Order: sequence, then structure tokens, then C-alpha cells
Amino acid sequence: MKKITIIGGGASGTLLAVNLLRNAGDHELEINLVERRSKIGRGVAFGTEKDSHLLNVPAGRMGAFPDDIEHFHRWLTATGHTFDSHDFVPRKIFGEYLREVFTDAAESSAKHVTLNLIDDEAVDMSVNNDSGEVILRSGEIIQTDRVVLAFGNFMPPHPSVADLSFTESVMYFQDPWNSRLYETIKRDNSLFVVGTGLSMVDVALHFHRHGHQGKIYAISTRGLLPAPHELGHTYPTFADELKSMTRITDMLKAVRRHIKIAETDGSNWRAVIDSLRPATQELWLNLPLAEKRYFKQHLSRYWNVARHRMPAEVAAILDEMQANGRLEILKGRLTDITHDGTKFTVKYKTLNNQHGVEADALVNCIGSESSFSKIETEFVRNLIGRKHIRNDELNLGIDATPDGQVIGKTNAPSKVVFTLGTALKGILWESTAIPEIRTQARTLALKLLAD
Ligand SMILES: Cc1cc2nc3c(=O)[nH]c(=O)nc-3n(C[C@H](O)[C@H](O)[C@H](O)COP(=O)(O)OP(=O)(O)OC[C@H]3O[C@@H](n4cnc5c(N)ncnc54)[C@H](O)[C@@H]3O)c2cc1C
Repeated sequence: MKKITIIGGGASGTLLAVNLLRNAGDHELEINLVERRSKIGRGVAFGTEKDSHLLNVPAGRMGAFPDDIEHFHRWLTATGHTFDSHDFVPRKIFGEYLREVFTDAAESSAKHVTLNLIDDEAVDMSVNNDSGEVILRSGEIIQTDRVVLAFGNFMPPHPSVADLSFTESVMYFQDPWNSRLYETIKRDNSLFVVGTGLSMVDVALHFHRHGHQGKIYAISTRGLLPAPHELGHTYPTFADELKSMTRITDMLKAVRRHIKIAETDGSNWRAVIDSLRPATQELWLNLPLAEKRYFKQHLSRYWNVARHRMPAEVAAILDEMQANGRLEILKGRLTDITHDGTKFTVKYKTLNNQHGVEADALVNCIGSESSFSKIETEFVRNLIGRKHIRNDELNLGIDATPDGQVIGKTNAPSKVVFTLGTALKGILWESTAIPEIRTQARTLALKLLAD
């Protein structure tokens, strides 16, 4: 009997379990899915209960299986929802879908497959050449042949200012997904949001929909908002042209040239960026480390706003909020944050000028901490301390092979410890959204079953 233990029952862990269940064939298999939250398939993204928190990918492309990307939209129709395949559906509905996909796979799995759902938190792990032990917070120890780290997103780092005493205020919200934020903020409270990406968009949209009257400030170094989606454009792939390139600046020139062609032909820059998606991981893997570092430092912000877009109707609301002064997007570098017991004073710098803003609450929308050596959870601290995992060279995730074999103290790909999803961001660059995760989940399941 092969025992596979998955740590984390968000989208990555759940889809891996689904693929193991569906492809088990004649294998005698025990799958342990360990999740510290009460609900499987939710994780950070799909655990929200707010209708205003929408998927940022249209329904027609969010299917759970790489060979059936329409599956989610068909499920929506079959379950009585009236969404179009171009619609951006509330994320909580996608969470329900994942749960049902998982339940279906569990119910139709073969008799020789055992699935254990373990409502607990992994806190430590020991590994030898061909097996491991996972230690849970309850004290239970799971003996296992393979461990898959599907731990996804973590708390964001605090804003990088020298004095962090402001973090002790109850009006500082390090976790923008914690319901405490929505329960605590009063209608006329002013909010200062650190970050101008999709998490900030969620926060602003939620307060807008609930008639919030206080002003919302949001800051990032470039002050860039995610670009709005504009569906219906296509562009033929030109990835082969980029595959021979090993310099980011050459790639950038080629992309700009194709954007000009697209715009002359009545298409759109978005279609050019999207045409690269199937090849992005391969292009990234071909790049020398110095070029990856250059991209991370100088271009990733622009890539992120172009690639991780928001629905056009959401962009229209943010425009309106900016026009009527409810939302102000700031561009600059934070230099100091203090809290005097009543208000936060946030200081930031633009080129040569220092500015200051006061707000009642401070919301951290910087995004998940990616440097594992700085992550504070007991499990990650133990994994790092025991050298089962280490940061990748870009500090964007953990060191591993592109197909998820974790590289730790032996410097060789582990035969026991695997990963997928966000932890592979440094290795694959695009590794955090469902289109990548569903492919990884399937490939990794087949690999684990075959080895
Ligand atoms: C706010 C937000 C919105 C997003 N929207 C979209 C979208 O619209 N479309 C899209 O394609 N992608 C979206 N994404 C990307 C998203 O990260 C992925 O789609 C997906 O949800 C990631 O799932 P995951 O399982 O890898 O991580 P997570 O969702 O973070 O799940 C990891 C799970 O592991 C559990 N866990 C961690 N450590 C332990 C431990 N030691 N013991 C037990 N359990 C543990 C956690 O409790 C959690 O449930 C969004 C991300 C965020 C943050």
C-alpha cells in the first residue's frame, strides 16, 4: 500500500487528491489530506464568504481539469447558476465547486483507495531516503511514503519600515482575508491600504458595496492598478521566437513589437500577453539566473498588472471611487508608520518629497510572504531548520525541480518530498493560479502513482 500525505487542502492539495483518486487504477493507495481550516478546497482565495470577492479569471477558463477547462462553467449551469462563460463569478462559488469535484472523486474512487481527511495542522516532519513522518499539532504522527507540501499562501510581511510598533494596534490588519477587518471598520473610518494589487481591489470593492463613507488610500512604489480585462481578442502565439532568447530586454522588444502588430490588426496587448501563457514557464526556465533577477527587480510589477487583471466592471467602480475622491492611489516608498493610539500617520517618499497621510485603519495587501526563511509558522520554521526545504535562488518560493521534487540538505531532488503551486513560483514564475495548478496537480499525481 502506497501512502501519500498532502499538507494543505486549498485548491492545490484538493486538486492533487482529486487526480490521485481519479487515476489510482489498480494501485493500493492511502491518501492523507491534512488541512488546518475546517473546509477542504477553500484555502485563502476561495475561503471568502463575500459576494464582492470575484474570480479574476472568466468562468469558462476555471475548470478543475487541464483537458476540460469548461468544466466549471458546465457545473455552474447544471447547478442552476446563470453565469455566462465570460463572467467573473464570486470566488466562494468556485470553492463550492472544488468541494463538489473532490466529493465526487472520493465517492467514485476504487475500494482499494483509502482517503483520510485530517482536520489538523502539520507542525513538523522527518524524512529518510524513502519515507517520512508528519507530526501533527494534535500529537498524531503519520507514517508516509510521500509528502506533498501544498501549503499555498502565507501571511504578508509587514510593510518595510524601521519601527514596527504600529503593528500592535488592533486597527492594523495584517491579514486582509480575516473577517475581523470587515467587522471592525466603521462606515466613516479612513483606511490606508499598503499594496495596489488584486487584494487591495477586493478590499476597496467590499467597502464600496457596503456604503463605506471614509476615504481609502492605497500605495505602492509604482502606484499601478491591475489592468482591466477586455475579453474577445486573440493573437497567434509567437512563443517560439522567444524560446531562443536568453535576455529579458530582447524578449521585451519582441513583445512590444507584437503589441504594435496586434493593435494595428484590431487586436489588443492583452491578447499578446495571454498568448504567452502556455509557454511562460518554459521561457522562464530557459533564462539565466541574472536575467530572472533583472525581471524580478525591474519588470515583474509591470508583468503582474498586465497579467493578473481585474474584471472591467470592477475597474469601472474603482474609476468612479477615484473620481469622487473615495479612493486615492498613491505612488511612493513608505518611510515611516506610527500609531498614536487613535490614528496612523503614514509617511512616504516620492523622488525628492516627503508626504504624510493620516488614517484610522491600516490594511496590509502586500501579498503572501514568499521568502520561506522569513515565514513564521511552526511547520515552515521546522522544515527550514531541519533543511528539508530552502529558499529558491530568487526568494520567491522553495528550491525544487520544475516538476515539484523538493531540493533540501542533500542538494538532490527528494524522492519523498514534493510540492506544487505558489511554492514553485521562483522555479516556474507562473505557478499560483488555477490554470497552472490544475496542470501541476495532474502531472504530479501521475508521477506519484507511477514512481
Ligand atoms: C485573494 C486571492 C484571490 C485569488 N483569485 C484567483 C482567481 O480568481 N483565479 C485563480 O486562478 N487564482 C486565484 N488566486 C490564486 C490562488 O492562490 C490559487 O488559485 C489557489 O487558491 C492557491 O491554492 P493553494 O492550495 O495553493 O493555496 P491556499 O489557498 O493558500 O491553500 C493552502 C492551504 O493549506 C493549508 N495549510 C498550510 N499549512 C498547513 C499546515 N501546516 N497544516 C495543515 N494545513 C496547512 C492552509 O490552511 C490552506 O487552506 C487568488 C489568490 C488569492 C490570495
